[in-house]
Amino acid sequence: MKMKSILFHTGATDYQIEAVRRSLMTVGAANVTTMSSGGRTIMLVDDPTGVIDIDEYLNAPGVETTLQADEKNRHVALAESSGIYDSGIEGLTIIAGPCGIETEEQVTTIFSRMATEGLRYVRAGAYKPRTSPHDYQGPGPDGLEMATEIARDYGLQIVSEVIDPRDVEFASRHIAMIQIGTRSMQNFALLKEAGRRGLPVLLKRGMSATIEEWIGAAEHVLAAGAETVIFCERGIRTFETSTRNTLDLLGAVALKERTKLRVIADPSHAAGRRSLVVPGALGAIAAGLDGLLLEVHHDPASARSDAAQALPLEDFSYLMQTIKNLREVLRLSVV
Ligand code: PEP
Ligand code: MN
Repeated sequence: MKMKSILFHTGATDYQIEAVRRSLMTVGAANVTTMSSGGRTIMLVDDPTGVIDIDEYLNAPGVETTLQADEKNRHVALAESSGIYDSGIEGLTIIAGPCGIETEEQVTTIFSRMATEGLRYVRAGAYKPRTSPHDYQGPGPDGLEMATEIARDYGLQIVSEVIDPRDVEFASRHIAMIQIGTRSMQNFALLKEAGRRGLPVLLKRGMSATIEEWIGAAEHVLAAGAETVIFCERGIRTFETSTRNTLDLLGAVALKERTKLRVIADPSHAAGRRSLVVPGALGAIAAGLDGLLLEVHHDPASARSDAAQALPLEDFSYLMQTIKNLREVLRLSVV
């Protein structure tokens, strides 16, 4: 059953909520249900004939926002995103690092620059999902432990992809955020196992997934117990071959209309080559997304996976400065 919904401010009074409910019933709602979680109330409005313009309630006392969420995705509709996921630039979640963990020297050199740029979260893949079994598969658990120790020395925390549900328990003892890759977005056993750990989950969009399917995947993760979900648009499969994937920026913006959770972009995997990464990153920030996931390498030519799209460290620093300038020009919030 499709529902429209209204999210109330934390301080909304029972009287304000009841006034909205009554009004909805008089304009043709078949049913109105309220649910509360963490001091917030969401009202689900069953509008079978589609006559209600839910946005007319935006200015009603107590109302914070309206959402087009359906009852099935109540966790996604109700969940709060908090500022504690800021990293790199206030208000944004910027996560950067190598595609795959390779050597101690590689990890140290890259993490040290990420720390200088003020990041809190770094990416570093230990279990790599590769098209060919003959390509670099990542170092596995030993590499993850090594990278975690180096990260700790720099005051950084690791975001890393897990592919196999059996690795989730080990990985979650070392990392701060579990990454679910595009190829795993509908691996429901993995989603549940990741959610059960209680950690935040960085949920990439499946390369052929609709926004609705992506929301459904997040609902699985949140229902299983994840602290939060950060959605990551990483490009979808289209007929176009001049980029590795098509970065669906408006799809990501449309998702933001349906949830208060963070939605970030990964221009690296969309671009497939480094010359397009900075334009993609700036486009995402200008469009109002909440951050970026970026692949960087101190020596891109030697990277053992995704070398063509790796940003050199200098380019990453340039990008960080340009994002700050851009946000100032656009007055996009605190810079
Ligand atoms: C990655 O982030 O290294 C990765 C494999 O990404 P995706 O799942 O988007 O392909
Ligand atoms: Mn990669």
